[in-house]
Amino acid sequence: MGKIRILDQNMINMIAAGEVIERPASVVKELMENSIDAGATKITVTIEDGGRKLISITDNGCGMDADDLAQAFEPHTTSKIKTSSDLLGISTLGFRGEALASIASIAQVRAVSRTKDSTGANCVEIDCGSKGGVSPCSADYGTTIQIRDIFYKLPARRKFLKTANTEMGHITEQFTRIALANENLDLTLIRNGKELYRLSDKDDLRRRITELFPISSSDISENLIKAESSEKGLHIHALMGMPLISRTNNRFQYVFLNGRFIRDKFISHAIKEAYRGLLEPGRFPVVFLFINMSFEDYDVNVHPTKIEVRFYNSNLVHSQILGALREKLLGTDLEMPGRLPDVQNAQSTSRYSPPVRDSRIADAMAEFFKKHRPAQMQQQLGFRPSAPGKVYAVSREKSAQYDRKYLQIHDSFIVAQTEEGFVIIDQHALHERIMYEDLCRRIRKNKLQSQRLLIPESFEVTVSGAEALKANAELTDKLGIELVPFGPRTMAVQAFPTLLSGVQPLDFIQDLIDLLDRKDAGLDAERLLDEVLNMAACKAAIKAGQKLTDSEIEQLLSDRQNAESASRCPHGRPTTIKFSIGDLEKQFKRT
Ligand code: ADP
Ligand code: MG
Repeated sequence: MGKIRILDQNMINMIAAGEVIERPASVVKELMENSIDAGATKITVTIEDGGRKLISITDNGCGMDADDLAQAFEPHTTSKIKTSSDLLGISTLGFRGEALASIASIAQVRAVSRTKDSTGANCVEIDCGSKGGVSPCSADYGTTIQIRDIFYKLPARRKFLKTANTEMGHITEQFTRIALANENLDLTLIRNGKELYRLSDKDDLRRRITELFPISSSDISENLIKAESSEKGLHIHALMGMPLISRTNNRFQYVFLNGRFIRDKFISHAIKEAYRGLLEPGRFPVVFLFINMSFEDYDVNVHPTKIEVRFYNSNLVHSQILGALREKLLGTDLEMPGRLPDVQNAQSTSRYSPPVRDSRIADAMAEFFKKHRPAQMQQQLGFRPSAPGKVYAVSREKSAQYDRKYLQIHDSFIVAQTEEGFVIIDQHALHERIMYEDLCRRIRKNKLQSQRLLIPESFEVTVSGAEALKANAELTDKLGIELVPFGPRTMAVQAFPTLLSGVQPLDFIQDLIDLLDRKDAGLDAERLLDEVLNMAACKAAIKAGQKLTDSEIEQLLSDRQNAESASRCPHGRPTTIKFSIGDLEKQFKRT
């Protein structure tokens, strides 16, 4: 006799439940989505013991009559689709008809429901797949579903549940996602009898963000930029975090497609690219992104929890998101506001020991106030203009008459007066940015102009180094670097870009080889060029510790006005920190 058996339906449901119901938070997600699909405007979620003891969801949606209530917990039952053609344009959050059946197979469930036109409610109870009959009861319009003792007959699964706090964290995250996507809903989350969130349908999205992220709210909601675009049937609405509230992971990237929270690698990539050069490596932007498009333009039936979708035109989605976000970011003043100590805590410094960079800025400020007078004329040093041919030399006479509103301190920072207060500029970071943009502009048009070296400089090269150079001959040519073989293991530089005239050619080429050697795999030509230009800008920029003349400072300040994105260096570090006169007045207790 054969060994193969057909599993009974309850076993099938339990196995299927493994896909959709991973933990209590999955139950919360599925039930809240059902309430939304039922047209609810108010949903209350009650949790006890991290969902282990009780998960209860009450809504004021359309409700179910007795027949539907009997049917809803059977496998593959749904009111949302009928035929295969309905799968091509799913407008509801659910459609697979398996959530209630899965949930009912792994816990004790009690459901009470009443439709708008019925005089009474009905209820049904299911204990790990064994269902009782539907009986009348009394309740308000809408539906309440209570889940008790999740996984109690599946010790292996129950064992995998984490502490109540951890499970509650997951539940809160699901609640947050739904709350962000549904501004128009009244939502309440109660934990162990205490209200954790009560979100009103009257509040706008920013208010909702403030309530959902209370610890970091002053951070987040005050530092969001709004971006919108609508093209080719794709509507994008985003609140983008300023670079200063970036995070160390991408948890604060919320992407919604027609009200559904999704994760998508194309979209994550577009977001990352939009912030390119505005964030330091390893930092992730805070982004709330809402995409609306026709239901026919993507497939949500690719993942049991529907967190992944398949776009039919993912290139369009990518380019439009990238374009809309990037354009907005570049058009926004992203300067870092300076942090003055709290007025109340101005005396106590022990509480907080500033990192080196902060203390340098504090020093710089102190210096500024101490020496608030014109500096003596400084002698000209070898600072090269960012663009050849540009006249840096402002006459001494003019410079003396100029009502100076800037000051170089510690030969590293420039303090400059602005209309709103003053800014402190990191001279290297800003010049690096300006150089980088200049290089990008030029190389986009043509190869970089180069100049022949009087005497070619020769250098030794390893086999892999020589190969890396050979493989990237097009790149070196674009940069205006001319290399010739000079012996078995030796090469020589004959021409070098004019713009990098202050950089040691051999030093540059060594670093270039290292970069090419390291980055051979997986980096497309555009990104590689970008990295090389980054490096070039860094090497060619004025350094910290370099004394600048007035005319050099003036040129730098004027180039800053023309830069596309002067607030960050190409590595994403801030170039400028701004202080407002209002903050200073508060600090000096003038207001
Ligand atoms: P799906 O949501 O994929 O249709 P579910 O198993 O989650 O499958 O739900 C089955 C059906 O039960 C739904 O199609 C819907 O008709 C009904 N239902 C579930 N929850 C509710 C609710 N809160 N209010 C009204 N009807 C509901
Ligand atoms: Mg559902």
